Amino acid sequence: MKIIVNKFGGGILDGAFSIKYLLEIFKNYSPKEYSVNVFSAFGKTTNELEKVLKSYQNGNIEEGKKTLGELKIFHIEIAYELFPEDHFVFDIIEDIFKKIQYKLSMIRQDENIKYIYDQIVPFGEILASLIVSEYFSCIGISNKLIHATNFLKTDSNFNTANIDKNTTSQNLKAQIREEIFALYKNIITEGFIGFSEKGMTTLGRGGSDYTAGLLGNLLNADKVVLWKDVPGVMNEDPKLVGNNNVKKINFLTYDNFENLLQTSASGLVHPKTINEMKEKRIPLQVRPFWDLDSEGTLVS
Ligand code: ASP
Ligand code: MG
Repeated sequence: MKIIVNKFGGGILDGAFSIKYLLEIFKNYSPKEYSVNVFSAFGKTTNELEKVLKSYQNGNIEEGKKTLGELKIFHIEIAYELFPEDHFVFDIIEDIFKKIQYKLSMIRQDENIKYIYDQIVPFGEILASLIVSEYFSCIGISNKLIHATNFLKTDSNFNTANIDKNTTSQNLKAQIREEIFALYKNIITEGFIGFSEKGMTTLGRGGSDYTAGLLGNLLNADKVVLWKDVPGVMNEDPKLVGNNNVKKINFLTYDNFENLLQTSASGLVHPKTINEMKEKRIPLQVRPFWDLDSEGTLVS
């Protein structure tokens, strides 16, 4: 049995076309390859939810409602291209947006801003995972959606919550067992989010990579693949020296990758991901989503 953890990020999943394209990856898995798939919010959803929240906090309710309305249309339009018109996913999307709207209307001025953020912004990830899971079911890719809020236990340090690895590991053992893989083959979950006794929590912007790394570690995965919209890890920062003057690095050690993340590759991968990989010597692949012939960069 081989377990692959994939992370699909917001930037690459910005419309129905890229969601349909996921099939190109899944159709290549052999019957013995099982996957755990971590999704972050589609496109610019996280930024937009942050905007909505700011509008509400500044008392610009109408502006907040408008941005949230646009975000709903963005998700519904994606769903229209993926599902038949009478599919129940449309009702679920409606309900999620009603829930967000309700939570926003309940915000009190004296509440902790970081707490409120973590009760609203995770819905980007929740929507993405739900839509992909239902779409996979529609096209016959067997899968089970297991919400991160069922297993990823954190403290209540909202916005940059610390993961309780022991509890999370126990939860995973109970929820992602071999029998579950045997039944469903592909698990789908949200990146970036978790839960504490006080409600939903988030791991910090870009935290889906970290979720993928953590799952790779705790599930003793064979590899973790971070699908990105770049060819891999580059030897220099293309923003500084131009696209024509950079070269992809094919192989890297954990330590060298860690160094690059602090310099030329900063922002490419959430820095907390690396320790999870290093601890169990699990290979990490940074792969270009739009070029499946390329293996990207292998960190090991
Ligand atoms: N959606 C979150 C963010 O944009 C988490 C992630 O993308 O990893 O920061
Ligand atoms: Mg994101």
